[in-house]
Amino acid sequence: MILDRDLLDRLATTIDWNDWRWQMRNSIRSVEALQNYATLDDAEVAELETAGSRFRWSVTPYVLSLIDDTDPRCPIRRQHLPSGGELAPDFGSLDPLQEGTNSPTKSVVHVYEDRVAFKVVNVCPTYCRYCFREYFVKGSDTRSSQDSIREGLDYIASRPAIRDVLLTGGDPLMMSDERIDGILTELRAMPHVEIVRIGSRTPCTLPQRITDGLVAMLRKHQPLWLNTHFNHPDELTPEASRALNALADAGIPIGNQSVLLAGINDSIDVMKRLCEQLLRVRVRPYYVYQCQTLEGTAHLRVPIERGIEIMDGLRGNTTGFGIPTYVLDTPDGKVPLSASWFVRRDGDEVLVRTPRGRIWREHNPVGRPDPTTTT
Ligand SMILES: *Cc1c(COP(=O)(O)O)cnc(C)c1O
Repeated sequence: MILDRDLLDRLATTIDWNDWRWQMRNSIRSVEALQNYATLDDAEVAELETAGSRFRWSVTPYVLSLIDDTDPRCPIRRQHLPSGGELAPDFGSLDPLQEGTNSPTKSVVHVYEDRVAFKVVNVCPTYCRYCFREYFVKGSDTRSSQDSIREGLDYIASRPAIRDVLLTGGDPLMMSDERIDGILTELRAMPHVEIVRIGSRTPCTLPQRITDGLVAMLRKHQPLWLNTHFNHPDELTPEASRALNALADAGIPIGNQSVLLAGINDSIDVMKRLCEQLLRVRVRPYYVYQCQTLEGTAHLRVPIERGIEIMDGLRGNTTGFGIPTYVLDTPDGKVPLSASWFVRRDGDEVLVRTPRGRIWREHNPVGRPDPTTTT
């Protein structure tokens, strides 16, 4: 693929470029559309046609402009454009988290007693090739109906145990400001709902969506948290930084959830740079997910031992709160994956591994010390 860099550069100087609706209207969803921006060889056309027919794809002109066409393994290209690897025989299923069985109503996933994921929309600015909600965003209806949002709100209203609501999708920020405002207003009126979180990749894939109007509306609904999704330091562009800073300036704490992906961020160096650059724009690395055993993602999955090794490599080598928790999501909830720093007990001592690779002996007798005993 050879991108028409002149065309993209010219577009990027127009006012329309900064309008998220223009980015959505001009999203590239077919080989023909892509050919307006790039020269593709026959093999690339065939790959996009066959792999792309399994799971729809779409990229904003903004995301296309970030692709490095001189790098066949470009981390941005591999997250968004279909590749032949998706058709390889695979162990994976279509709904690895069995969300269907954890859904009391179509739009709500209720795994933990006190919090729910509320799927308010089934469209996204781009379709990540490893999306575990593929089963959901695959639907031909482009939006979750008003009815399923209504059912979800009624369900949450009827369960006083729910204190934390996570708006997800699809990407909730694909909705208009008015509709988001409406949902947040209803949730805020429920006395048991203590916090609301929004999960959105728009700061990464459509930073133009973070407008002054959106931010002003969101800040009315505090305490509101936002979790976004960056996987590679190259995604932290000036546009993304502007969007993240605008959210942080509005007092919205931002976390990042990335997915460990083969050839994209499965190295200590890339993960460290990603986490450190996120901190510079006031985003706290929250989770790194093991890529789900999802049909069509065998080429992107990393052995869990390697993931643990990468996370282990960050400890002691970067800011403590810059280190996310590596987790495997399961139908029962998220399972943290880590190497143990605890080694074993030796009499009154506990042996631990240190970030410098030594064993430290900590005096730590079993049982509570008796304050009446003097020695
Ligand atoms: C991830 C998730 C949550 C939130 O989990 P936290 O560990 O609190 O971030 C809630 N519900 C579902 C179904 C989830 O998958």
